[in-house]
Amino acid sequence: MGRQFFVGGNFKANGTKQSVSSIIDNLNKSNLPSEVEVVICPPSLYLDLAVHENKQKTVSIGAQNVFNKSCGAFTGEICAEQLLDLNINWTLTGHSERRTIIKESDEFIAEKTKYALDKGLSVILCIGETLDERKQNITLDVCARQLDAVSKIIKDWSKIVVAYEPVWAIGTGLAATPDDAEETHKGIRDHLRKTIGEDQAEKIRILYGGSVNGKNAKDFKDKANVDGFLVGGASLKPEFVDIIKSRL
Ligand code: PEP
Repeated sequence: MGRQFFVGGNFKANGTKQSVSSIIDNLNKSNLPSEVEVVICPPSLYLDLAVHENKQKTVSIGAQNVFNKSCGAFTGEICAEQLLDLNINWTLTGHSERRTIIKESDEFIAEKTKYALDKGLSVILCIGETLDERKQNITLDVCARQLDAVSKIIKDWSKIVVAYEPVWAIGTGLAATPDDAEETHKGIRDHLRKTIGEDQAEKIRILYGGSVNGKNAKDFKDKANVDGFLVGGASLKPEFVDIIKSRL
C-alpha cells in the first residue's frame, strides 16, 4: 500500500534567527526528492521567518504545540487560528517532552488535537512509552491508551500522522532497532484497525522517532509499517537531508 514517506523535523527550543535561516537555506539548496513529504517545526518565535524563507514545495512548516481553545485570555499559549494566520498548516501534539515535563494528560492532548483538526490544521500526534513502561512490557498498552484518548473524540484520522517515539530513545543516541520499531508499529496499526477501522488504519502514516540520524535512517528502509521519521537533534544538522533521502 502506497503511504507517502514522511519526514518531520522537531527543532524543540533550539536555535536563533540565524541558525534557523541557515537550516532552511540548506534545505532550499538541496535537491529533495519530490515524493517525500517534509514538515519542519521550528520554535514558535521563528515560524513566520521559516514560512517566508522556505522555498521548497515539498517542505511545510509546522508548530511544536497548539492550545485546545480559540484565541483569548490564555497567557503564553498559541491558538490554531494564529498558526493558520501565518500559513502554518501543521502542528505536533503529544510530544513526550510535553507529556512528561509539562505533564500534559492524554485527554488534554486529545482535545488539542481535535481543536487543531477542527480548525483545519494537520497533526503529527506523538505517542510512546517510557523506559520503565518498556521494562514492564506494556509498550503497546501505553500506545493504545494514548491513541484511544484521541479516537474517543476524533473519528476522521485523515489529517493525522502518528509518530511512535519511545521516550528512552529520544535524544539518547539509542535508537530502537528497525525490527523492534516495526513490531511496535505493526501493533499500533493493528490496534488502530480495531478502533478507527481497517481503511483508516491502513492509510495512516506511522513515523518512528528517537535518535534517528543520517546513518541509521536507511536501516529502516524495508520496514513495511515505518512510514517515515520524526527527527529531533539531527533535524538541526545537514544530515537531515540524508534522512529525507533515506528511502531512495
Ligand atoms: C524528538 O524529540 O522528537 C526526537 C525524535 O528527538 P531525537 O531525534 O533527538 O531523538
